[in-house]
Amino acid sequence: MTKSRFAIDTLLVQAGNRGNHDQHHAISTPIYLSSNFRHQDLADVENFDPHKQYSYSRLATPTRRVLESTLAQLEGGAHAFALSSGMAAIQLVFSLFKTGDQIVTSDDLYGGSFRFFDYLTDHYGIHFTKWNGKDYQQLSQLITKDTKAIWLETPSNPTMKVIDINQVAQIAHQINPKLLVCVDNTFLTPVYQQPIQEGADLVVHSATKYLSGHNDMLAGVVVAKSAEISDTLAFNFNTTGSTLDPFDSWLLLRSLKTLSVRMQRHTENATRVSAALAKLPQVEKVLYPGVGGMVSFYVQNHDQVEQLFKRLKIISFAESLGGVESLLTIPALQTHHDMSETARLKLGITDKLLRLSVGLENANDLIADLKQGLADS
Ligand SMILES: *Cc1c(COP(=O)(O)O)cnc(C)c1O
Repeated sequence: MTKSRFAIDTLLVQAGNRGNHDQHHAISTPIYLSSNFRHQDLADVENFDPHKQYSYSRLATPTRRVLESTLAQLEGGAHAFALSSGMAAIQLVFSLFKTGDQIVTSDDLYGGSFRFFDYLTDHYGIHFTKWNGKDYQQLSQLITKDTKAIWLETPSNPTMKVIDINQVAQIAHQINPKLLVCVDNTFLTPVYQQPIQEGADLVVHSATKYLSGHNDMLAGVVVAKSAEISDTLAFNFNTTGSTLDPFDSWLLLRSLKTLSVRMQRHTENATRVSAALAKLPQVEKVLYPGVGGMVSFYVQNHDQVEQLFKRLKIISFAESLGGVESLLTIPALQTHHDMSETARLKLGITDKLLRLSVGLENANDLIADLKQGLADS
């Protein structure tokens, strides 16, 4: 894909506007609910161009296509796919692999990814090797002749480790140019991180989080760097069928328009909240990568957790992240519950670790809420 002439905030706000998908030149992209599309004649079917025309909406539908071309542009890829959830997006990427393949993954991932990878090992004989996300020399030693991909999440979830995508891609592609470097870009979004520009081959998102940003929908995204990869993915996508429906495609497109402004405010709020938390005697340690809206912190003892959840008046005790409303989770009991305790503790996911998705409320109110929640009784 040729690089856009426009800055990312312009691309985001203009998402879906001034395309040729609607005869009336609507500013807001229409929602096309039709599941199928009429053909003009036999020649229309014989010369069908799946990249431009429509036949059946699992294959393509106008609202989703506008969304997908926007997402491809934002991440600088050849093609994007909009799916029914983040896990469906991850599953689509793994449709590229087969029994006997080996995948190297960073060690601190979304809990659902670990659960899926264990399932792939048990049912399909796909093997996973964990890399600590720090030692780049060790990474090159973990890559074998069976390695097909490297799977990264950065900053990591929930301990906020930052991985140098560029360095990983260089190491991987030097060993084998066909190795697929895949990045789950849910936490930073293309506003702050564009993995394909740094050498990655595939990007995935749980669009349930920042891309949609309002805690009101479930969606996933895959962006492929090259048409070669996206052609295989397109076949698998149409074959397995976990597509995003027209209404949610529209909702996600609508949400993208404010992504840049939201991310800026998430960062401002998270910067202030993490600084305030670090000063509290009840807080042992704060983990904040300096950008984005996710902050993790350790309280001094587990008893404070129950008290905090009970006392909070603005921040909700709930799973998920990336929405306008602030949410607090305890990864050991929620997102990472399916992991073995040994593995969890090794990563620092103790029962004193909390993960805060800093929303767009006034930062002073959020800080006051945390302070009163943590204050010694
Ligand atoms: C939530 C999440 C997922 C899974 O996405 P769903 O939309 O919940 O299916 C994958 N990766 C990360 C980093 C997430 O936070």
